[in-house]
Amino acid sequence: MTLVDESAALTWRDLAGIGLERLNSASRRRVQALAELGVEHLGDLLTYYPRRYLDRSRQATVGELRVGEDAMVLATVERVRAIPGRNRRARVEVLVSDREGARLSCVFFNQPWRAKQLREGMGAVLYGRLEAFRGALQMTNPVVDLVGDRTGAIFAVYPLSAKAAIGTWEIADMVGEALRRCERRGIADPVPTDLLASHGLCGRDEALRLIHSPESFADVTRARNRLVFDELLRMQVVLVGRRRARRLAGEGIAHEVDRVLLDGFRQRLPFELTGAQSRTVEEILADLAQPWPMHRLLQGEVGSGKTVVALIAMLAVFCGGRQAALMAPTEVLAEQHHLGLSELLRSLGATGRAAAHGGRLALGGTSPVLLELLTGRIRAGARDGILAGLATGDVHMVVGTHALIGEGVRYRSLGLAVVDEQHRFGVEQRASLRARGTADGLPDVLVMTATPIPRTAAMTVYGDLDVSRLDELPAGRAGVRTEAVSQPLEQPAVWERLRAEVAAGHQAYVVCPLIEESEKVEASGAEATYAELRAGALADLRVGLLHGRLPAGEREPIMASFRRGELDVLVATTVIEVGVDVGNATVMVILGADRFGIAQLHQLRGRVGRGDAPGWCFLLSDNPSPTALRRLQALVDSTDGFELSEVDLDLRGEGTLMDSRQTGRSDLKLASLRRDRDWVPRAREAAVAISDAGGPGPILADEIALLLSDADIDYFDKS
Ligand code: ADP
Ligand code: MG
Repeated sequence: MTLVDESAALTWRDLAGIGLERLNSASRRRVQALAELGVEHLGDLLTYYPRRYLDRSRQATVGELRVGEDAMVLATVERVRAIPGRNRRARVEVLVSDREGARLSCVFFNQPWRAKQLREGMGAVLYGRLEAFRGALQMTNPVVDLVGDRTGAIFAVYPLSAKAAIGTWEIADMVGEALRRCERRGIADPVPTDLLASHGLCGRDEALRLIHSPESFADVTRARNRLVFDELLRMQVVLVGRRRARRLAGEGIAHEVDRVLLDGFRQRLPFELTGAQSRTVEEILADLAQPWPMHRLLQGEVGSGKTVVALIAMLAVFCGGRQAALMAPTEVLAEQHHLGLSELLRSLGATGRAAAHGGRLALGGTSPVLLELLTGRIRAGARDGILAGLATGDVHMVVGTHALIGEGVRYRSLGLAVVDEQHRFGVEQRASLRARGTADGLPDVLVMTATPIPRTAAMTVYGDLDVSRLDELPAGRAGVRTEAVSQPLEQPAVWERLRAEVAAGHQAYVVCPLIEESEKVEASGAEATYAELRAGALADLRVGLLHGRLPAGEREPIMASFRRGELDVLVATTVIEVGVDVGNATVMVILGADRFGIAQLHQLRGRVGRGDAPGWCFLLSDNPSPTALRRLQALVDSTDGFELSEVDLDLRGEGTLMDSRQTGRSDLKLASLRRDRDWVPRAREAAVAISDAGGPGPILADEIALLLSDADIDYFDKS
């Protein structure tokens, strides 16, 4: 039994132990309604943050509203009338007036409960489109926030579902009481004061008071900064803590990295490493030498040269006497990697004996490297040989699909697992590859992704990994010129350019509009586009069609003939996103470009302009929406994937990012990676400071345990 100090400031655990029914302002209905909103105790209530604030002095009056526009108005209910009728004819008519006495009528169809919800004299904020109906102003089915007769210049509006049997003023009422009753003991602050001071943050007690009842918008900002910081800090403390724990556990392999030998390799590469590649290689080699398992994310867009970085890491491990595996999401990609690595190995001064299949290559005095390919397509006999080689250690490097983690695959001593395109693999699969480690220790893991994400997002979503960025493309690329084409009249010029490039011996892609809901519809759309282009703009060219509904057996020959240059144009759905890599292609036409996200467009564009001939990318769209236009313009303006990822975050928010990895999401109530991007590195820095000082104090640690669910924490373990 623990002794509770009844005078100490209230911690989250204390607040979580106080049920709402203990408040005088809580009726059974209120408690029930709040429970439906997920608010169970005082902690939940105090962190049930306002959705917005209303500035009473700035509310529009009815006289200022314009017909046809969406508007918001603060009004008082004057009269409520329920008009019965069958089915959809039943309606509730509500007459309201604003502070100047001007009237507005609201009609609610199919919401009979409105008659009980809205009563004479109530204050309400209405949002809706203003219509003129039989000479009077009207809103149909407006969104309603009940605000009661609260006073004060600014007041909070809480998020409510349409039918919640509780009004925003009732919540405000309960929050008010809760805050008053916490006054005596105060609310505990888990963050050391010097840390708060250095970030210019107020105390938590003050922040919670101000967020619910601010006197100015400056108060809201002040409160919000602190509470956002807390959310991000909790997450960063966990992430930084995981990383540190992994290091302390020391279950990894301290590879003996032979610098002389590696430098020898580097000198024999057919090119010089870019600054970003050299930096990344150093980061990886430093990790490999450490006794803890590396968990590093290598971000670099298509063509940034990730392969050679991976190869150097693999060679480092090879020199230290261990095996390396590279896992790719598809067979095509695995085959491409195998080819790329073999070529590089050969260029590193292989001495003869390069057999057609997994040739042995001697490297500067060491024993030769044996690289193998393991996919589902490898014949059983060959497969047995490779498996035996992996088990005995004769096979030093292996590239493959998830066949690498198949039943019966044993490694003698797996020292490094490189995983390409992490988002296509589940966490489980990555964990499974890592679990192939032997008694020597856990293999190091390098995850490669071609999707650049903003720095702060990486810090949040992959905060437990170390991150390297290849943010510099190798020199000698001719680059891509991008044009947004939104006028039908401009389209002939696109096809002219395409034909000119083909006439000059190059090839082109035409990507069909993305149709998310159905691959079938998308495929038939692609077929129609193909037929249309063959009959029209591309009439006398050699055109192939590729989409996801074609059987794999038909797809491969088409890709192969495009690769061999037997097709001039490949009309395709996004199946070409992965796996087609043709240096001779110089034109990328994307139809319905407004349907794609920035990242995807950028990825697609990366398919051209990789060699010495300049590439062209045309983004066709007839969508006049400003967001669509801004997205396409962003691509015209920049070819830097990292820069574009920041724009994307601005335009779309973090939703899609967080979906891919739901790290601590449940605890992010206020913080937004877009809006609060400046706070992410600050919280990170603070978490590192806390970790360096021996870890979080008891209040913070307890809060993290309560607020971050087990699922969140497990996630870190497996990633
Ligand atoms: P990624 O896997 O990141 O898409 P690759 O590793 O396939 O990129 O590299 C793309 C191309 O660039 C390859 O042909 C590779 O040989 C070449 N390359 C890589 N690094 C350099 C460099 N530093 N200088 C010149 N060419 C390079
Ligand atoms: Mg690659």
